[in-house]
Amino acid sequence: MAEGSIRTCVVCRRRAAPEELVRLRFEGPVLSATAHEGRGYWVHRASPACMDRAAIAKAVTARGHKVAPEMVRLP
Ligand SMILES: [Zn+2]
Repeated sequence: MAEGSIRTCVVCRRRAAPEELVRLRFEGPVLSATAHEGRGYWVHRASPACMDRAAIAKAVTARGHKVAPEMVRLP
């Protein structure tokens, strides 16, 4: 696996390969896996703790992009 393919989960801060993660992006105020542009954040797809909307909203807001839990749309 190439070094450049490692990503960091925004919730737990652990690093993982892209196939273990879901990329969420902003489309206006909504953070979802379906948007194609904008700042991307990665979360572990198989981890209930990382796929938690409140945890994602808190982590992303802490990184400078304010978002409410109800604006996080998970696949
Ligand atoms: Zn995680």
